[in-house]
Amino acid sequence: MARYTESVCRLCRREGQKLFLKGSRCYTNKCSIQRRSYAPGMHGQTQVRRRASEYGLQMREKQKTKRFYGVLESQFRKTYETAERMQGKTGDNLLTLLERRFDNIVYRMGLAASRAQARQLVLHGHFTVNDRRADIPSMVLNAGDEIRIRERSRSLEPFSDLTLTRAIPQWLAFDADQYKGSVLALPERGDVDIEVEERLIVELYSR
Ligand code: SF4
Repeated sequence: MARYTESVCRLCRREGQKLFLKGSRCYTNKCSIQRRSYAPGMHGQTQVRRRASEYGLQMREKQKTKRFYGVLESQFRKTYETAERMQGKTGDNLLTLLERRFDNIVYRMGLAASRAQARQLVLHGHFTVNDRRADIPSMVLNAGDEIRIRERSRSLEPFSDLTLTRAIPQWLAFDADQYKGSVLALPERGDVDIEVEERLIVELYSR
């Protein structure tokens, strides 16, 4: 599957905001965007930012959201189509569906340093959901679902010393002694912490 292989910090600098793609480094003053808050590339520093067209703004919001969640275009589009079929605002539905992805929840529970690492851990089969082995990062979880770290994985490096360093959102819970977490409730728009104008993404796909 196609994956972005260059420095992910460039993506944050392109979007002009922290996307938290690099794990613990993102939470330190080594974060690239704090030191170089201009766009990447040879002309990044001197470039006079032209006013973007409406289409340009819509594209940027979509790209930023895709990058934040580490989702490729086809998956993003599918998620959008699901969001459109749901009741309520499509933009809110889109963001909350992305938030409910299995890999995002593993990250949000503090079991991985980044969403990319969470995706790897899921793919390598380290978890069960409702006591069944689950290794699909894009799986969308529901309220009441229980995630466990599999017994044979508990002694492995990411899980052997589970010191949770980030705050867990209130719609999730994780008990490090039991190696078990759960989805307490479905997230709402207010629980999504990316700075994005989802209205622009809806406008882009409605063209
Ligand atoms: Fe983005 Fe993290 Fe790199 Fe900072 S350290 S620019 S937040 S990926």
